[in-house]
Amino acid sequence: MKISSLAKKKLLEICKRIYDKGFVAANDGNVSLKLGNKILVTPTGKSKGFLESEDLVLVDLKGKKLKGKLNPTSELMMHTFIYEKREDAGAVVHAHPPYSTALAAAKIPLPEFLLPEVILSLGKIPLAPYATPSTREVCKSIEGFIQDHDAIIMENHGVVTVGKDLDDAFFKLERTEHYSRIYFLAKNLGGIKELTKKEIERILKTKEKSV
Ligand SMILES: [Zn+2]
Repeated sequence: MKISSLAKKKLLEICKRIYDKGFVAANDGNVSLKLGNKILVTPTGKSKGFLESEDLVLVDLKGKKLKGKLNPTSELMMHTFIYEKREDAGAVVHAHPPYSTALAAAKIPLPEFLLPEVILSLGKIPLAPYATPSTREVCKSIEGFIQDHDAIIMENHGVVTVGKDLDDAFFKLERTEHYSRIYFLAKNLGGIKELTKKEIERILKTKEKSV
């Protein structure tokens, strides 16, 4: 199969955005895009800010390498696991954005009812128990959340998001980090004030109307 150059270009663009926004350092993070029964994924050991088309790796749904001179990301198992569990997933993004990762390192979960746009878009962003990166443990740690959540913070590690396409997965990462930052700032201003039950009900009603 010829991989569309457009798909490769888009994946590289998202990687650069993740790097430029400071969501990863050095060679951290990994991104994948589902293309039918194959997955285009970032390689191991290369910065997301300086990737080239030929660095990308094509694997099958089980993670077997089909094409590419480099080896796929060491977190490939997490990506194939997510595609297996989520038929609707078109792309997966994993990064270590500082505010969300600080919460992950402090094992502090994000509150669920703080900002209307987060309630409407992502809903609850769970904190998954710590697992050694690049092992099957990571799949186990997110297993209980991945079915119902598109953004997960992983203890002492970082964030993983699932989207219908690359933009969608990236925006979910960006939104999670923005939310973590606002939460951090509000906490430092003297504490957060979650929305009341009545206010939440009203927000959820606007969602019903727009469906
Ligand atoms: Zn990581």
